[in-house]
Amino acid sequence: MRTRAAVLRDYNQPWSVEEIELDPPKHNEVLVKMVASGLCHSDEHAMDGHIAGLVPGPPMIGGHEGAGVVQEVGEGVDWLEPGDHVIFGFLPACGRCSSCAEGHSNLCDLLATFADGTQALDGTYRHHTLDGKDLGLMCLIGTFAEHTVVNEASCIKVDKDWPLDKGCLLGCGVLTGWGSAVYSAGVEPGDYVAVVGCGGIGSNAVQGAKMAGARVVAAIDPVAFKREKAMEFGATHAFSSMEEATEKLGEVTWDRGYDKVIMTMGTGDAASLGQGFNLGGKRAKIVVTNLHSTSEGSVDIPAIMLTMMEKQLIGSLFGSANIRKDIPKLFELYLAGQLNLDDLITKTYTLDEINEGYQAMRDGENIRGVILFD
Ligand SMILES: [Zn+2]
Ligand SMILES: [Zn+2]
Repeated sequence: MRTRAAVLRDYNQPWSVEEIELDPPKHNEVLVKMVASGLCHSDEHAMDGHIAGLVPGPPMIGGHEGAGVVQEVGEGVDWLEPGDHVIFGFLPACGRCSSCAEGHSNLCDLLATFADGTQALDGTYRHHTLDGKDLGLMCLIGTFAEHTVVNEASCIKVDKDWPLDKGCLLGCGVLTGWGSAVYSAGVEPGDYVAVVGCGGIGSNAVQGAKMAGARVVAAIDPVAFKREKAMEFGATHAFSSMEEATEKLGEVTWDRGYDKVIMTMGTGDAASLGQGFNLGGKRAKIVVTNLHSTSEGSVDIPAIMLTMMEKQLIGSLFGSANIRKDIPKLFELYLAGQLNLDDLITKTYTLDEINEGYQAMRDGENIRGVILFD
């Protein structure tokens, strides 16, 4: 079939919205008509080559935070049928590998196929340019498209009454941020928590920290609008920089330092991580959620403090969450009014407006932009 998609034709080029050829789903695959897709920072990293080697290079269909309606199922898919509503996990969960079995499906073995851009397990492509070139997929899904074909491992079935235009955010940013606080950092009642970077991920780390009972949630972001939003999402303090947070450290944490520091900047870098590390107190967990460039070879932290203060430096992928359990759970928290998804969406766009949406992200205007498909 013919459909339309936003294609990365070359690094550092605008997304090219064009017609593509899409093959029917094969074994264990489903054809999904997209309803909504978030504009996450990671696609920007794919576009500028910062995470080259982790995701396929051009030509590639972007987008990894999406939701839609199943149109057709391939052979062997016995738990989904046309009409079912699904949210994609930006990381798949096969349910069979040892990581999935251990309750760490965010580290599913299928992640190893990410860089290929092909269908998971299969090694071939369903998406092609009209002149016959194979198109790789961001995160095995490629949600910047009116239709896509994905492995069932990326699909989470949700209730048909639940709003997919909000729920799409659960497939990456919300669960990543919330889980960074609740699972990776293990925020406990009374904790002092600092969240460094308050965009689509950090806003949800703030929400997660608040829900887990933090006494102080300090939101650190240079953009005033994002600090204001963070206060609405539950932050108790806001600072424009880590320098400012450091100056106020004694006052805000009774000279103890933060118990949990969650790094959720647009792009991580060695120097910022060092500053974040120093905000932590004794036995602090410093959680690295934001992506550092694949070209960065070292981090800048005073390693002696790992020992002398028992600080812990922790990586966090997809909020250390399990999508089959956590995506429906967070959706229910939203429906119960306990998790705010509505205010995360600053603006919606059509697929044709995708470059405008990314420009707004670069300009710090959006917590999250979302593409709505007809
Ligand atoms: Zn993302
Ligand atoms: Zn697995």
